[in-house]
Amino acid sequence: MHNDITLFNDESHRFILLNESDPGDEDGIPSNQYLILHNGKGTLLDPGGFGVMPQVLNVMLQYIQPQDIEAIVLSHQDPDIVGGLSSWMRLTSAKVFASRIWRRFLPHYGLTHMRFVDIPDEGGNITLNSGLTLSFIPAHFLHSPGQINVYDPLSKILFSGDVGASLVPLDEKANHADVFAQNFSTHRQFTEGFHKRYMASNRALRYWVQQVRKLDIDIIAPQHGLLYRGQVKDDFLDWVYDLPCGSDLFELD
Ligand code: FE
Repeated sequence: MHNDITLFNDESHRFILLNESDPGDEDGIPSNQYLILHNGKGTLLDPGGFGVMPQVLNVMLQYIQPQDIEAIVLSHQDPDIVGGLSSWMRLTSAKVFASRIWRRFLPHYGLTHMRFVDIPDEGGNITLNSGLTLSFIPAHFLHSPGQINVYDPLSKILFSGDVGASLVPLDEKANHADVFAQNFSTHRQFTEGFHKRYMASNRALRYWVQQVRKLDIDIIAPQHGLLYRGQVKDDFLDWVYDLPCGSDLFELD
């Protein structure tokens, strides 16, 4: 488990990996939560499940008070992203951005403070009150049919949700001095099974890689596991472009 780390910092803009949250059950998947600070306001990317909410809040409070959180972005509808949202919506007055296709499903998490803003299928840019511009990049079917990535043009960080997610064993994590994968050929074993089983198809991956390669990206920051930059980032994109996965792996009669 790593602590919070600043991935980008200039005077008015900071991109922080809050911590790696563990749901407290050895079967629960650890998750990364990110906070963007801009002109004194905050945006949370995938704030996490119900069990991790107190840990995430605890770390977040070192940087910003809940009333200054202006936006929460949900990459998709899963419990490790939305499970804690009811508490976040009581604690903050943030708008919650999520794919339009999940709007009518999310109330089933018991959400009563509805402040959702639909992200259209084609994505697009939004400028918040602080002046922060977020670029929503569709990553549909990777793995969710309404999956959204967030690109921050100031830090050149792409929050990639489940794309690039890895499950790194604890003993292996102890060898990592930082939160970045050091070498894709050794990292691949921790990410391959997840992508083959959860991602819908190679066509979806290829479309995503084509869109992402148009962006100027320094860091790819997934919701689980280690982050990618430099050569490892390029190697990851090359690998995932050619990866058969999901329905590609069905053998037809
Ligand atoms: Fe998911």
